[in-house]
Amino acid sequence: MAAACFRFYAELNDFLAPDRRGRDSAVIFQPPVPVRHLIETFGVPHTEVEIVLLNGISVALEQPVVNGDRISVYPMFESLDVSPLLRLRERVLRQPRFLADAHLGRLAGYLRMLGFDTLYPVLGDDRVVASRALEQGRIILTRDRALLMRKRVTHGCYLHTTVPRMQLRYLLQRLDLCRLIQPFSRCIRCNGLLERVAREQVETVLPLAVRSAHKHFWRCRACARLYWRGSHYRHMQRFIEEQCPKVSGQRLQLGEATLN
Ligand SMILES: [Zn+2]
Repeated sequence: MAAACFRFYAELNDFLAPDRRGRDSAVIFQPPVPVRHLIETFGVPHTEVEIVLLNGISVALEQPVVNGDRISVYPMFESLDVSPLLRLRERVLRQPRFLADAHLGRLAGYLRMLGFDTLYPVLGDDRVVASRALEQGRIILTRDRALLMRKRVTHGCYLHTTVPRMQLRYLLQRLDLCRLIQPFSRCIRCNGLLERVAREQVETVLPLAVRSAHKHFWRCRACARLYWRGSHYRHMQRFIEEQCPKVSGQRLQLGEATLN
């Protein structure tokens, strides 16, 4: 048998038993074992880990651990320059696509409103969810740690809160998403892309009040749902400005340009 000493930093401590938080913890194991496996024995999904230092040197998740090793485990850094260290995965997929696990329908709607391709719901067990994410290059969003601990899962985010707005805020920060938003380009109900349609094409199906008050309309290419800039649109615009205060002005116009 062998022993190694682990220390977890920042929000990774939320996954640990209270008596193991913020301090060194020894783990006994039968070598050879990859560091990923030992990290997960603490309850920390490997998708949540950004940097692993083994005796002060940055290593990959499959690095074997031997007797007497000291391991420091870090989540995503917000601002620290870690470029000399080995990141375990790209900071973000170029245009991130998501798969929202069960009970994350509100979050899926918010992400679609911001223009992110978000699959929801996915019918099936964890194995099906993991395969679908892998096949389609999607980041799994979930509150199920066991799902993120599956070896095949490469990109995932554990959501610490059950409050949809807080979940969105966390994701926007963790994956640096505000720079990528394209508001009002995607159907909130089905994830299809929206296209501009002339009023004449849709006026027979519009309520009279909408027909007289609005000139511009968009239709979902997948489910044909119609969108216009009603009071709900202005409410959503304010919501986006709150979520992405630095870039939303520019991006909101971009979204409008895309739609027009
Ligand atoms: Zn649709």
